[in-house]
Amino acid sequence: MFSPLSYQQLKSLSSLRNKIMNDWNGYCQRCSKETNCHSMSFLNEQLCCMECLDEEKDHPKFQQAKAEELRQVKAGNLNYKGLLHDNS
Ligand SMILES: [Zn+2]
Repeated sequence: MFSPLSYQQLKSLSSLRNKIMNDWNGYCQRCSKETNCHSMSFLNEQLCCMECLDEEKDHPKFQQAKAEELRQVKAGNLNYKGLLHDNS
């Protein structure tokens, strides 16, 4: 299993995500629906509405993608694009 992230690693992870969040234009990048509530996908860098993110949790690789992102951040790779970035 994965050991907890250090404070510094968590800070890096959240500032990475906040930076990308600034690209938000009000529309889900997966289903194109207008939404006020969004977050970044764990599978790639898309900013998605809550419904898409909810569906994403059923993806067979969701847990793996989450674990891999943490592993990359811990290894110091703050530009990790997500497990399915290349073939999504
Ligand atoms: Zn959506």
